[in-house]
Amino acid sequence: MVLMPSSGAGHVIPFLKVAGALASQNCRVTLITSYPLVSQAESALITRFLTLYPQVTEKQFHLLLLHLPPNDPFFRQWELIHRSLPRLSDILKSLSPPADALLSDISLMSSTISVTESLNIPNYVLFASSARMFAFFAYYPALSDALSGSAGEDELLEIPGLEGLPKSSVPPLLKDTTSPFATMLRANNDCIKKFDGFLINTCDVLEGKTVRALKSGKIVDGMPPIFDFLYPPWEPEKVKGSRSTAWERWLDEQLPASVVYVSFGSRAPLSREQTIEVAKALISCNYPFMWVAKFSVVDKDDGQSMHQVLGADLTRQVKEKGVVVQDWVDQQQIIGHKSVGGFVTHCGWNSILEASSNGVPMLGWPQGGDQGIIGVAIAECGVGMLGGKWGWNGEFVVKGEEIGMRIREMMESQKLRSRAAEVMEDIDKAVARGGVCDRTLKQFINKFMS
Ligand code: UDP
Ligand code: UDP
Repeated sequence: MVLMPSSGAGHVIPFLKVAGALASQNCRVTLITSYPLVSQAESALITRFLTLYPQVTEKQFHLLLLHLPPNDPFFRQWELIHRSLPRLSDILKSLSPPADALLSDISLMSSTISVTESLNIPNYVLFASSARMFAFFAYYPALSDALSGSAGEDELLEIPGLEGLPKSSVPPLLKDTTSPFATMLRANNDCIKKFDGFLINTCDVLEGKTVRALKSGKIVDGMPPIFDFLYPPWEPEKVKGSRSTAWERWLDEQLPASVVYVSFGSRAPLSREQTIEVAKALISCNYPFMWVAKFSVVDKDDGQSMHQVLGADLTRQVKEKGVVVQDWVDQQQIIGHKSVGGFVTHCGWNSILEASSNGVPMLGWPQGGDQGIIGVAIAECGVGMLGGKWGWNGEFVVKGEEIGMRIREMMESQKLRSRAAEVMEDIDKAVARGGVCDRTLKQFINKFMS
């Protein structure tokens, strides 16, 4: 199996999980990595993965060096991959023994299908986001009028077999059905039925109803097979007793379930004004907190310090009550720590799965992309609550007082806590050895090997 992620840590991590799982089942795995990679985080993750899995072969896909119009650097990489496709064909042709199948990222569907069709190689897609987002993607062309029409933001978009989706959960770029992002979604949607199957990183307790609607053909008649399972971790547990960082020692000292963990993922920086309001919120709500802060879309461009953004007085107050980290952290380890009692999240799907697997209640604050739709999914499942009408990243500044109030609500809600515990228990069963996730992974392996 040849795996081909696109860009961004949130896409690379699930690919590494599936690559690790396939390699552990003795499948021959080739990982295609698109160079130059966009972020340091992606480089570090891939290097570590290849060290841990020497049996996986890396094939470097050197992208054409083209000048493209300014765009989000991760989306720009998708476009560069698309324009460099002849080189992908050369890589696939050069493999010996030949590739039995390709597993590529959703964003590359319309690009890779032309290559695999001409080489007669089966093509599967790995979806890194929620089943709810996949349903939206699959039904997108039929929603076009409702999205671009004059219906209010509270109107519900109807997707067969699902609860209505508030129009407000769809980001502006997808409401403008002529934007490059919308055009790419439609081009990928056009070729759904040409694929051999879709892997979706989810489980019954989180999104069972959505997966059933997808499999039933209600959303797309003739939908290829869907393999829904939680992609297993690829890194072994940290060696106990190894030297710990300052923040790990700080977490160890806090009371169980007392810490608010705040992170907006790998690529959603907050504005200076919004960062100040988050600081005020965290200081006012009187919980110890751990805040992973980022000020640029790509990690290597991040030159600002928290002190420059907050000024001396706020920085001092922040340091009295919590810990701020401006580096890449091992988020799984933080969310799995017994001191963490709540998570303020931008609703990146990987983050949601990590919190759900550890029974941590969430306060969702979507910033863009798929995050509004994911926010609806977590509120529906009951494992998290949403902040409110807080706008998209940079749309306006949400006041610290309001954020603080919602953080307190999350930390004090028994309902959220007990639902999060229930969800964790279900996930534990699903991912146990021989459980439904294991079985579905094996079905996928049998399918592409057959
Ligand atoms: N992550 C991490 N450390 C960081 C930032 C992010 O380990 O400092 C991981 C996080 O655990 C998750 C992924 O990066 O697995 C981010 O993916 P997600 O879908 O949550 O959000 P995205 O960054 O794609 O918006
Ligand atoms: N996506 C999709 N269909 C496509 C291309 C992308 O459903 O043809 C999804 C993709 O998986 C991701 C979302 O659109 O979940 C884009 O989200 P975002 O802007 O937050 O970027 P990303 O999460 O990819 O970093």
